[in-house]
Amino acid sequence: MAVATDGPSGFDRFDLHPSLAKGLSQASYDAPRPIQTETLPAALEGRDVLGLAQTGTGKTAAFAIPILDVLLDDPASGPGALVLAPTRELASQIEAEFRTLARFTKLTTATVYGGVSQRGQEAALRRRPDVIVGCPGRILDLLNQGVLNLDPIDMLVLDEADHMFDMGFLPDLRRILAKVPEERQTMLFSATMPREIRGLAEEVLDDPHVVELADSAPAETIEHALYPVAEGQKRGLLEHMLGQPSCETAIVFTRTKHRARRLARQLADAGHKAVGLQGNMSQGQRDRAMQGFRERRYDVLVATDIAARGIDVSGVSHVINFDVPNTPEAYTHRIGRTGRSEREGIACTFVTPDDNAWVRATEKMIGSPIDRRRVAGFEADGRGDRGPQRGGRERRNERGSESGGPRARRSGGRKSSRRSRGRGGAQRSAR
Ligand code: AMP
Repeated sequence: MAVATDGPSGFDRFDLHPSLAKGLSQASYDAPRPIQTETLPAALEGRDVLGLAQTGTGKTAAFAIPILDVLLDDPASGPGALVLAPTRELASQIEAEFRTLARFTKLTTATVYGGVSQRGQEAALRRRPDVIVGCPGRILDLLNQGVLNLDPIDMLVLDEADHMFDMGFLPDLRRILAKVPEERQTMLFSATMPREIRGLAEEVLDDPHVVELADSAPAETIEHALYPVAEGQKRGLLEHMLGQPSCETAIVFTRTKHRARRLARQLADAGHKAVGLQGNMSQGQRDRAMQGFRERRYDVLVATDIAARGIDVSGVSHVINFDVPNTPEAYTHRIGRTGRSEREGIACTFVTPDDNAWVRATEKMIGSPIDRRRVAGFEADGRGDRGPQRGGRERRNERGSESGGPRARRSGGRKSSRRSRGRGGAQRSAR
């Protein structure tokens, strides 16, 4: 099988099934990302994995590749893998990635999430897909109705586990876990490790291979800075940012659904191709907004955190935090919507004097100060700005430190006491 991934830098070293290797090659996945290099050997052996990584690092393929490879080696007679994700958007993207990579195989996938009619999903499940990707709420509903049976599952992924916890899914998750066979391979991915997720990981993972990427620092490809500004001047500063020639597409984050809706309308009234994405919108409206943004019919997406969770749009030039996020961790997440896949991105965060505590906590988490920049006419006069004073028009600092890049650190690389699993992962056939 001729694939463009030969040589030690490609995926060849993993001895993947030829049809999967072809899918990778066609998707131009020529070299594994650090998270994949670190995760794949253990995951392909059937070991449990704990991956501490943000979206944008390539973590979806880090679990999709081993799942597909195992299913190709040893096809299941029902769904062999279940991937749980916090939002519909993320679930759809994960499924899209599975489909891309499985293009040259016969493996099938289905997505299951709430907010849309159950009927189509039931029909998809009756066709016995190999991989199910879903959100906990709907999965649990279908389980309770007897429409879904998780007995054949022997690979389970909990993706963005910290967000599932934030969104209150932990009780649902536990109920689902009780219905998945105990004898299975489990991979848990999370950008952050709050106490509750650490507890969950200890419960569900058996001697996991731990992969940790880049602590909580933003990707090195993202140039990010704080813009001290008075609350009343945020709109003007936003217009200034959107008017920069480098600003091709932007995701603007607001604190509340109401602010997202209002700001999207104001920007549209001012002549921008802007659309909102917030939790009060129906699934159809959200899909249309996302599709329009992907296809560049809109170039500004005004979103709240929850609605934007997991969205993966390549080529977003700017992330603008109109309001700071609730937590330092959410900062890395939000700004990770730009600079994806090793591309350059710019992230601007508007900070008012009220945001001081958040700034301090975020800089502590990142481990270095974040640049302050000023735009003439929009400087905050509040005391809250403790950053270095810069005069005149917008000026740039160098990035604070070398802390940012995707630095793969492997810990817990204990030799696996490989569990005898029903099938697949533990038995690597020689090809
Ligand atoms: P994720 O962290 O899974 O959201 O991945 C971010 C983006 O990187 C997605 O658009 C993937 O399609 C892409 N990607 C993942 N792995 C690779 C790779 N090895 N080569 C090229 N692109 C990749």
